[in-house]
Amino acid sequence: MSKKKKFLLAFLFLAVIGGAVYATSYATSYATKKQGKSIQTANIKKAADVKEKVDQLAKDKATIAAKAKEASALKVKEAAAKAKKDADTKAAEIKALADAKAKAKTEENTKNSNNNSQKVVVIDPGHASVTSSVKEQQAPGSNIMKIKEPGGAQGINTRTPEYVVNMAVAVKLESLLQAKGYTVKMTKTKNSQMLGNIARAEVGNKANADLVIRIHADSNNNSSITGASMLVPTDTKNTDSIYKASKNYGQIVFNKLINEVGMNNRGVVERSDMTGFNWSKVPVILVEMGFQSNVNEDKLLTTSAYQAKIAKGLADGIDQALK
Ligand SMILES: [Zn+2]
Repeated sequence: MSKKKKFLLAFLFLAVIGGAVYATSYATSYATKKQGKSIQTANIKKAADVKEKVDQLAKDKATIAAKAKEASALKVKEAAAKAKKDADTKAAEIKALADAKAKAKTEENTKNSNNNSQKVVVIDPGHASVTSSVKEQQAPGSNIMKIKEPGGAQGINTRTPEYVVNMAVAVKLESLLQAKGYTVKMTKTKNSQMLGNIARAEVGNKANADLVIRIHADSNNNSSITGASMLVPTDTKNTDSIYKASKNYGQIVFNKLINEVGMNNRGVVERSDMTGFNWSKVPVILVEMGFQSNVNEDKLLTTSAYQAKIAKGLADGIDQALK
């Protein structure tokens, strides 16, 4: 082989070896690069995943917190609703109880009122601020004539006229009897109204009263005399039909008055000389509440408290008598 050929072969050999080395080197470098790139990508993906998980966790945490808050709010709401329901139930129970009580009370009042409203009580406040010397028959068919309105007593110290005390008690008694359900009629409502005793009796007769109560205060020359008395008709031909009931009612009302007020007891007294009794066709009684001629009773009779006490005693007594 020529020298030239040997050189060419050597060159070719070198070229081939060189090419192979280069190729190998390039391939290795590429693979490494490629591998690096893929790790990088994987790392980025991993970071993203972690971030996503962290975000999700944060989201979940927020959701749980919101749910907890909601649940807590719901619990409070539920508790409030339950408390309100309980309160409502209790209030309804109380109302039902009150309603039942009110209904029972109304029924009782209606019953009393129905029973009592058919009963008529006439109250006759004695005397007037004016007098009359006109005379009238003491009894039907009688030849005894009496002055219509001679005027009543007067307070020994207070100088209070009897008609003032009588009217004050009468008005209080009217209210008390109305409260008990009675139908009440007054023979007069003004002090200036002057009625004779026949006219007073006619009010009770026209009303067909179950009871007429005449209100008076007493007087005596002896200022030490005190106490109340109840006047009722004597059994005469004019009063025979009302005698028994009048005396019975008078006794019951008087006992109640004495028990409640505690004044001196002068008893139930029958009288045949009272024009107002003799002309009455319905049960009639006359209370003498006390003595205006006595210093202590004069003072008491002018006080509203004592008048109210007397009125209550009379009302309770009438209620007991007419039951
Ligand atoms: Zn009198």
